[in-house]
Amino acid sequence: MDYTKTMKRGENVIHYRDTYACIRLDYLQDNVETLYQKVRKPLMAIIKANAYGHGYQQVANILKDNPHISMFGVATLKEAIDLRKIGIQQDILVLGAIPIEDLDLVIHYDITLSLFSKEYMAEIQKLYHHHKPVKVHIKIDTGMNRIGLKSKAEFEDILACCQNSMFQVDGVFTHFATADDEMQNDAYEQQIQMFYDIIGQHSFRYIHCQNSAAMMYHQDDRSNLARIGIAMYGVDPSGEECQALKQVMSLYTRVSMIKQVKKGERIGYGLTYTALEDEYIATLPIGYADGLIRANQGREVYIEGHYYPIVGRVCMDQMMVKVDQNVHLHDRVEIFGEHITLARMAKELSTIPYEIVCLVSERVERIYKK
Ligand SMILES: *Cc1c(COP(=O)(O)O)cnc(C)c1O
Repeated sequence: MDYTKTMKRGENVIHYRDTYACIRLDYLQDNVETLYQKVRKPLMAIIKANAYGHGYQQVANILKDNPHISMFGVATLKEAIDLRKIGIQQDILVLGAIPIEDLDLVIHYDITLSLFSKEYMAEIQKLYHHHKPVKVHIKIDTGMNRIGLKSKAEFEDILACCQNSMFQVDGVFTHFATADDEMQNDAYEQQIQMFYDIIGQHSFRYIHCQNSAAMMYHQDDRSNLARIGIAMYGVDPSGEECQALKQVMSLYTRVSMIKQVKKGERIGYGLTYTALEDEYIATLPIGYADGLIRANQGREVYIEGHYYPIVGRVCMDQMMVKVDQNVHLHDRVEIFGEHITLARMAKELSTIPYEIVCLVSERVERIYKK
């Protein structure tokens, strides 16, 4: 027997356990279509952070043939190179800063950079020794104060410095801080105004500013590309429930043991829960190392038509729920999905759905449905 081989199911590592995320790629495609119908312009699919935890390989593979997807956006150079290695041909923009020491890889894999400051440009100029130009999109900071050029003067200066064979300016973009928030509409308006003021009469192959929230809640006809992120995964960026989109990821596990405890018995690390009466307790093989953080203590899971509370502390690999006689060994348990939406779970955890899906760890097998 060869123990050195990694067991795989498709492109997916098998983890030999009952905890898995179900990824509906058909819903992903439906969401792309829904958003496309809204904005009617080419889309850049944002698949950073392992496609928001959904698995970049499967997600990229299905999107590469979607006619609405013209480009991919990621956060790091590694994420971009991984896409090239699985055969993605479209342009790939790295939205964040990459260390310039790795410029050779950028050129070799034909990756597009975000050009966001004069200093960053100078670093590129110092190291550049290639025959092909570096493809860039110029990033303008219109109020988020993360990365980007902050004025028209800076923008004009950078643009002038790009008029040589070292740079190929394929696009210009900005990012909104409040597009998901009705109450901060003024801030959105200021940002978009500033964006078009700074660009002025210059034309570019790609002008983009809309993220999911801007696509859903605002209208913008001057940009010719939109960056679709969380909405593609079927989650409303505002954190509210959304009828128009279909949630792509669901997280499940199965009951691994059921026991009866007597009134007064205590449960889990720190013995933080005491049975109020004689109770049924089910143990589930999922914990914070799977991304189900300890703050979930006290929340509910869904089993066969009923909701049951998580009791005691969430352990690294397991947790306990208080159940009743309706629950049986090996029953499927929904952590989030059809009956517990990511929007609801995020509210209960005082966070946003983005964080929950990104935290679903590598140890959780992804099962794909087309
Ligand atoms: C992550 C990211 C997006 C996608 O945002 P969503 O809210 O998921 O649509 C778009 N643009 C930039 C610059 C990003 O960093």
